[in-house]
Amino acid sequence: MDRKIIIITGGSRGIGAETAALAASEGYAVCISYLHNRDAAEAVVESITRDGGDAMAVRADVAIEADILNMFDKVDRQFGPLTALVNNAGILEKQMRVDQMDVARLQRIFTTNIVGSFVCAREAVKRMSTRHGGKGGAIVNISSIAARAGGPGEYVDYAASKGAIDTLTIGLAKEVATEGIRVNGVRPGVIYTEIHASGGEPDRVERVKAAVPMQRGGQPVEIAEAVMWLLSDKASYTTGALLDVTGGR
Ligand code: NDP
Repeated sequence: MDRKIIIITGGSRGIGAETAALAASEGYAVCISYLHNRDAAEAVVESITRDGGDAMAVRADVAIEADILNMFDKVDRQFGPLTALVNNAGILEKQMRVDQMDVARLQRIFTTNIVGSFVCAREAVKRMSTRHGGKGGAIVNISSIAARAGGPGEYVDYAASKGAIDTLTIGLAKEVATEGIRVNGVRPGVIYTEIHASGGEPDRVERVKAAVPMQRGGQPVEIAEAVMWLLSDKASYTTGALLDVTGGR
């Protein structure tokens, strides 16, 4: 059987770390990228290898093309042909009204959230596409419920970058549908991770959970399970789909 090989960007914590653990338990050789938290990334790798899995962590800022190319090269050399990509790395900045936002902030948000995902998807397609001699594969892009809700008055920049991720998912899915590659998106609702602290509201989940029909925030593993289903052969006829995992919100 062919070896399953996955890159998960932003795998040092939160949703990415849970997805890495689940992917390893399903037999994937896992490469996670990180930016600041090397110790946390190494802990994820150690826990996978302790259980007999294959994993590596690469410091790769998805806002920097050379870092992305270096990460894909390392995976080619150490693991072999890529079969799955999860574009998970994403940032949120302190909540702010649009009239306070400067261009530097917009560039940071858009370069990390959409340009980074775009370049990673491009590199994955080069390797997976049957058109280029690859064996096919699957990509999942992590969007957000904010792509639909808009984030008005708080982070409309982040919401717009996630809207772009959704359009990338839909368009790319069609472009590579006959090349053995499926491309899907997951739109999480409010999930218990550290991202809310960078938005200036560490307790955000507690504040908004009353607006969730299920009356609770989600756990990172509940997103990871959806991602792994979309990557699996069980989703063999699913492409260009955007799956809301929001507790009904
Ligand atoms: P966290 O803040 O907990 O984790 C973010 C991860 O991304 C970390 O591993 C971080 O690495 C990495 N990262 C950040 N910037 C970069 C970069 N430039 N290059 C490479 N890696 C980077 O976030 P979540 O787990 O909550 O979020 C994961 C995804 O889910 C994001 O795309 C987010 O927008 C999305 N999402 C999250 C929701 C939530 O409620 N939590 C809701 C909707 C969407 P390091 O630790 O090394 O800095």
